[in-house]
Amino acid sequence: MMKKVVKFGGSSLASARQFKKVGNIIRSDKARRYVVPSAPGKRNDKDEKVTDLLYQCYDAAAAGTAYKKILEKIKRRYEEIIEGLDLNLNLDHEFNRIEENFIAKAGRDYAASRGEYLNGILMAQYLGYEFIDAAEVIFFDDNGGFDAEGTNKELGERLEHVERAVIPGFYGSTHSGVVKTFSRGGSDVTGSVVARAIHADMYENWTDVSGVLVADPRIVENPEVIETITYRELRELAYMGASVLHEDAIFPVRKEGIPINIRNTNRPEDKGTLIVESTCRKPRYTITGIAGKKGFCSINVEKAMMNSEVGFGRKVLQVFEDYGISFEHMPSGIDTMTIFVHQPEFEEYEQSVIAGIHRAVEPDFVEMESDLALIAVVGRGMKATRGTAGRIFSALAHARVNVKMIDQGSSELNVIIGVKNADFEDAIKAIYDMFIMSEM
Ligand code: ASP
Repeated sequence: MMKKVVKFGGSSLASARQFKKVGNIIRSDKARRYVVPSAPGKRNDKDEKVTDLLYQCYDAAAAGTAYKKILEKIKRRYEEIIEGLDLNLNLDHEFNRIEENFIAKAGRDYAASRGEYLNGILMAQYLGYEFIDAAEVIFFDDNGGFDAEGTNKELGERLEHVERAVIPGFYGSTHSGVVKTFSRGGSDVTGSVVARAIHADMYENWTDVSGVLVADPRIVENPEVIETITYRELRELAYMGASVLHEDAIFPVRKEGIPINIRNTNRPEDKGTLIVESTCRKPRYTITGIAGKKGFCSINVEKAMMNSEVGFGRKVLQVFEDYGISFEHMPSGIDTMTIFVHQPEFEEYEQSVIAGIHRAVEPDFVEMESDLALIAVVGRGMKATRGTAGRIFSALAHARVNVKMIDQGSSELNVIIGVKNADFEDAIKAIYDMFIMSEM
């Protein structure tokens, strides 16, 4: 029998109504055997996530200030769902224990994890699946780092004989029993770790959008959904700001070659986005996606005969390293090299870095430009297609966007373009129109 791990995000589990949609989704496919829930999220724009309430409540309790109202609010969120689903379940006992542990200062991670823990109990009861506390099967070392291999072994053994189970997302425990969480959004990681341990055929990640979008919907109106994307393409896009999955959710499944399917709980008929290691499926458009970030600055170092000075680049980069600044890109000419860095990270050390470069390589001059944006045009389809770069730049020229920097990785998987912050949105729209609208 096929095995699927299904992870549901907070908005998919924010109310009884959402739980019912989730129940229908799980029951409509027998392969959906292992369920990883998040904590209840926002029911509307003004609502609060249970995880945030738990942090607030714990901080208040640990500081010895009033916390009971917040705890009540959290309790009501669960009771509302229990009533709406007509479940015969009472969480009083659980809440008493949580309160005791808060007062005993059990830690912020413990506090935050209770959102998933309680939702897991609820979900297991609703589905009639076994509940497995993540603290018993997901492990962290004493420094808080995730113990991937220990977890994989324990989880694999535990689930081998369990046909259907609910494993709450986001947390686990150290070997000495202290509850630890992944970083925010970490239920994605739990889903991926479970999928690896049971050798799943598919990891379905259910959320409130119909997949990964070609471009940011705040910039492009109603962007298309990407049908199939490779892990590498996704990483490029995510790095450049497209928010899809928790970054650490890729590695466990990638290792095992398990595809991830991003799906929409509110539109289960949509196929969503399939994330795979590699594919011979042609992308629908030449490019797979566009993403970008504002807030970079460039430092241009010029020196006659730089090209023949061995070690020049290293010495310049060493200065950045000394101040703990990571660089993003480094396009270069014969007698120039330009370093792109994150503006906020750089500003603090600006003058020291410039002085350091003068000392290290005695350049003819150093020039800086701030308020730049980087845009990544990503697509495995670019490799085989002539004229992609030509089309990108003619789209930008038509939109009257001046290009500050161009960088095409040798993988031919992406083209990175530097523009002024002020041109960022126009540039993305122009590229989107050129590839998506005209290839439709
Ligand atoms: N509930 C946690 C958070 O809000 C984890 C998750 O939803 O994935 O970050």
